[in-house]
Amino acid sequence: MLAGGPPFHLMWSGAFDPDRPRVKRRVDLRRVLQFFRPYWRAELTVLVCIVLVALLGLAPAVFTKWIIDGALAAHDIRGVAIDAGGMVLSALLAGGIGVYQGYLNSLVGEGIMRDIRTSLVSHLHRMPIAFFTNTKTGEIMNRVSNDVDNIDNVVTGTLVTIVTNVAIMITTIVTMFLMNWLLALLALAVVPLMILPLSPVGRRMYDVRKRTREKRDEVESLIQETLSISGITLIKSFVREAFEHKRFFAVGTDLMRLEIRLAMVGRWFIAAIVAMVVIGPAIVWFGGGLLHIFRGLSIGTIVAFAAGGLLGRLYGPASALAGIQVQVVSALAVFERIFEYLDMQAEGVVRSSASVKPAILSDVAGEIRFDHVTFSYVPERTILHDVTFTVAPGKIAAFVGPSGAGKTTITQLVPRFYDPQEGGIAVDGRDVRDVDLDSLRRHIGIVTQETYLFHDTIAANLRYGRESATQDELEAAARAASIHDVIASLPQGYDTIVGERGHKLSGGERQRLAIARVLLKDPRILILDEATSQLDSENEALIQAAFLRLMSGRTSLVIAHRLSTVLSADVIFVVEGGRIVESGTHALLLARNGTYARLYWTQFRDRDGTALASS
Ligand code: ATP
Repeated sequence: MLAGGPPFHLMWSGAFDPDRPRVKRRVDLRRVLQFFRPYWRAELTVLVCIVLVALLGLAPAVFTKWIIDGALAAHDIRGVAIDAGGMVLSALLAGGIGVYQGYLNSLVGEGIMRDIRTSLVSHLHRMPIAFFTNTKTGEIMNRVSNDVDNIDNVVTGTLVTIVTNVAIMITTIVTMFLMNWLLALLALAVVPLMILPLSPVGRRMYDVRKRTREKRDEVESLIQETLSISGITLIKSFVREAFEHKRFFAVGTDLMRLEIRLAMVGRWFIAAIVAMVVIGPAIVWFGGGLLHIFRGLSIGTIVAFAAGGLLGRLYGPASALAGIQVQVVSALAVFERIFEYLDMQAEGVVRSSASVKPAILSDVAGEIRFDHVTFSYVPERTILHDVTFTVAPGKIAAFVGPSGAGKTTITQLVPRFYDPQEGGIAVDGRDVRDVDLDSLRRHIGIVTQETYLFHDTIAANLRYGRESATQDELEAAARAASIHDVIASLPQGYDTIVGERGHKLSGGERQRLAIARVLLKDPRILILDEATSQLDSENEALIQAAFLRLMSGRTSLVIAHRLSTVLSADVIFVVEGGRIVESGTHALLLARNGTYARLYWTQFRDRDGTALASS
């Protein structure tokens, strides 16, 4: 006996719910740091480099003081040469270390990006189909490409900026105090003015940046949709180029405005900081001058402070750090968007009643059982009502019924593209929600009306069914699917690139290729959705023959649109309004003179009269 599914409301709380507001919360810093962990050695080396460069950066100021107060005062030419040489040497050394540090920065930045992008894409591959039907492809693309690219700025930019500037500031402050504590205090007095609380600017920046990213999602979606092969065909056939131009210009203008706002936020503040960088030395010259006159402070010290680079090494980093909060906040916004995706519930969760580790479905005979299945895509609208049926192993079940009756939906529940809210589906008596999802899907082959092919060679597309397939196996499958001759006639044969989504092949050829692909997979259970479009009789016969060879010996659920398929089925299920209203063989159902008989006279006979005559 099949166990019933969890109650309706519980089901929705666990599943992907498009209407559920996305979780709003601050980013957990520890989680961000997790990504840095594998690179700790390189990071430690970066830290050492930063400290070394910071120390070497102080050398010019120190040498300046020594030249003025020591070598110049004593007219010591050797001393002057040594000090000047020291300046050059320290600069060269710092440059060399800087290059190595740059290499390490790229290593860490690019490595983290690769890791985040891989985990993001892998996670997306595990997201339920409902997520993809509810999310614009452009938005997904934007997060995976642009957002992850931004992470690089965070890693190699923001983080290194913070550490570098802190290191420079600390070493500079220590040196200043060692030279003259009074002048050091004077120089430091200006710093707090620069690091005035920046939070209002940061907050605004964060908001504008967020809105900008959302707008970029929109632009990306529009590009994606209109430049896809289906989109462009639609535009051309409805002569909508001008409309699309206007639409694109409108979102482009929105994006432009947001980008300008983003560039301007905090600009006044930054201008003030820049002014302080000029005012600071003036204060030091004045204070230093007084100290020289009244306290005998050496000129070398004043010059080292004001012109020898010490002040610059204090105010530069101070202003950089003052602005860094803005960068950190926006960087966190990027992580927030990435975590938002990573936190979404992946599919294939076994029911809580099942064992923690789901059972692997190994050998399958192929019995399929629907037990009082009720299903809806969205809570308000029930699509399947109490559907119950069994298909014995190796048998062909045809599903017929009016458009929108729920035939496709029924077949999609078997590989768990969706889970029912009530009732259960079992393969060989085991509820599909209790077994490992991959092992379940390995036994199921699907051929839909819309054949998807990758922009790759025919051989590579076929090998999607079985990676290890030999050339002989590819050809055998292609022969069984009545497509080998077509492939062989192409100049490049199996190495022919099929074009975007396989659009270089005809609809019928694409479908036969899809059949060959599933033949290579060799599943026990088949889900076939016959094309509704009329094919010429030769193509039709080829596909029919391929379908029959594919179905032989496998449990097949076929959404049938042709009489020949219905006639070859062991059992026919008539679906209407999400219910199975009739079931049986063709002769039995015809004799009953119900819905099937009506469909037969209106749909099948008109469409497939020749098949009837020949049967
Ligand atoms: P056809 O023969 O035209 O393909 P069908 O019998 O296969 O029709 P289904 O595709 O199962 O019908 O659709 C059944 C109902 O479910 C339809 O009313 C459709 O609008 C709805 N539906 C299908 N997919 C979704 C979805 N992803 N989200 C919400 N509703 C959906």
